[in-house]
This record gives sequence, structure tokens and C-alpha cells, in this order.
Amino acid sequence: MNLDDLPIRDDLRGLKAYGAPQLDVAVRLNTNENPYPPSPELAGALADRVRVSAAELNRYPDRDALELRAGLAAYLGHGLDASRLWAANGSNEVLQQILQAFGGPGRRAMGFEPSYAMHPLITTGTNTAWVGGAREADFSLDPVKAVAAIAEHDPDIVFLTSPNNPTGTAMPLEAIAAVARAARGMVVVDEAYFEFARTGTPSALTLLPEHPRLIVTRTMSKAFAMAGTRLGYLAAHPAVVEALLLVRLPYHLSALTQAAALTALDFREELLGSVQRLREERDATVSWLRGRGLEVADSDANFVLFGRFADRRKVWEGLLEQGVLIREVGPPEWLRVSIGTEQEMSAFREALENVL
Ligand SMILES: *Cc1c(COP(=O)(O)O)cnc(C)c1O
Repeated sequence: MNLDDLPIRDDLRGLKAYGAPQLDVAVRLNTNENPYPPSPELAGALADRVRVSAAELNRYPDRDALELRAGLAAYLGHGLDASRLWAANGSNEVLQQILQAFGGPGRRAMGFEPSYAMHPLITTGTNTAWVGGAREADFSLDPVKAVAAIAEHDPDIVFLTSPNNPTGTAMPLEAIAAVARAARGMVVVDEAYFEFARTGTPSALTLLPEHPRLIVTRTMSKAFAMAGTRLGYLAAHPAVVEALLLVRLPYHLSALTQAAALTALDFREELLGSVQRLREERDATVSWLRGRGLEVADSDANFVLFGRFADRRKVWEGLLEQGVLIREVGPPEWLRVSIGTEQEMSAFREALENVL
């Protein structure tokens, strides 16, 4: 028997499971992880906290994760508190809960592409229609065109990704505010890479008081160097959090996840300590690629989109043969490299030289 023989939903028939290849190579620069592992001190503190939780694993965890939500609110600042924070297993689960509460059959979500491929995938996975709007040639968003597209399609949910994945482009607050004013439905600003943005880049969190239908999502997977923990979160009006309580699974955040995320918050100085190094490495990577005569998108994230290649697959494979895994993603002639350690980036440069 194979998949097609099962009585699967018609809209899933024929689809392929999505995901970046997880290959065991020396230099993995394909999923925008932070290359610096936690310190032994952090690992020890985490183990201690898990040991305490372990003694109570016969009980369900705090269903509303209140201590964690208060900690996340304190980290974000902006006068937020636990009632305005929500957390789940990765920001992908947060996004899915948003779609479950505000999307669904007969409803539409919209984003501006190229952008994060999971937005349309989670959208269609919840039986919500997807409308792909366009970005400019430099991957920025023209707010006038965005507002016109929203008027035309009248989406129930609008996704804005800033800094954008896979392009790295950050969005000015005025553009986000223009979209929030124009949209009838929910506006989700995915700030997965916010901590990497250049100094002075304002967060959409500053717009929350004026826009009750605005949601800002964040994650511990990137700057926080905790991708393995699976912890994503959002800030929004307390009524939005109430809406998400209607669709979340009971006890969705395990006691172990909550323990790990609380430890990460305690160690945030250490975990975020690598951000400045990664930004410098990113800027150096952009300059080096441009010096090689390649086209490179401006980046406020921990990755760089570069091109253009008539046959990007060949370049991707050429790097892989030398033990360097990057990502074949985004517009057809471009490739994306995540920023790793200095050694990893020098391996990437050497391998790319050889391919070119
Ligand atoms: C990596 C990424 C996420 C994070 O997903 P998690 O489920 O939190 O690991 C969210 N949004 C964008 C745009 C991303 O690139």
C-alpha cells in the first residue's frame, strides 16, 4: 500500500512533505540556526530544572504556561504582560493556531512573496485559501501596492515577515502600519529574525497599542540559539490570546519544554551574546559576495540571499560535494546561506570559489 491508497483529504492528495534536507555534512548552513551551542553552565542549569520537573511528570504541566509567558513579556518589554503573550511548540505552531482561530474554510490569508514558505503551507493545511502578493525587485514591500492588494483580495489574515525570509529584508514601520490600517482581518508580523536586525530597526511591537488586530510572532529558534527546544511565541491584544485558547490542544507545552524555555530566558545574555558576532559575519559575507561580482540582497537576518545563477542546483550540489550545505530556496536564480561560525564561513567561501 502507498499513500495514494489511503482515504486522505482530497486537498492533500499528491502533495510532497516539505522540509529542508537534514544531511550529515561538516558545514550546515541551511536552516538559519545559531551555530553556537549552549554553554556547559546552561546545559547544567537546564538539567537541574528538568530534574525538578521530572519529579512531577505524573501531573499535567501548567496548561497556560503563565510563568513562561510572564518571562517572555519581561524579555520583550514594551509594557507587555502575560495576558498579551502566548507560547507554543515553535512559532510554526503559533502560526497554525492563528490560522485555526482566524482562518479556515471559506477564508483567505495573504502574504507578499518571496517569503517564508511555511505561511502558505500552514494556510492550506488549515483549509484556508492562499493569496500570494508581490514584492518589488529589491524584495522590499511597496506599501501603496500592498494596501491596494489588500483592498482587492480582502484577506482574513495578512502575513508580513520582517526581516523577511529568505531575502533578509526588513520592513519600515510605516509600511506595517499602512497594512494594519488597511486590513479588515488579522495582521501577523513574523519577527523570527528581529534580534539580528541592524541597530535602530524598530519592532512592530511598538504598533500593538494602536492596532488591536496586530500579532507579532517571535521564536527561540534563531537568535536565542534554542532551535531544539521548539519554543515560539507571540505578543498581541489579550482578546487575541483568548481566541487562541479556543483552538490550542490542552497541555500543548510540555513541562520539559517550559523548563527549557525558562532556562533559556535566565541565560538570555549568554544566548543572545553571539548575535553581534553573527551580524558582523553577515555583513562581511555580503561584502565578500558582492566583491565576487554576485548579486546580494541587503540582509537584516542571520542569512544572506545571493545569486544569480542560471543553474543554481549545480552550485548547490558543487558546495555539497565539498561538505557545505546551503539552501536552495527563494526565487529560481538565488541561493541562501545561513551565517555560521568564522570557520564555517571561510569553508563556505573556499567552496564557493571552487565552484565559481
Ligand atoms: C525559522 C522561522 C520561523 C521559526 O520557526 P520555529 O517553529 O519557531 O522554529 C518562523 N518564521 C520564519 C520566517 C522563519 O524563518
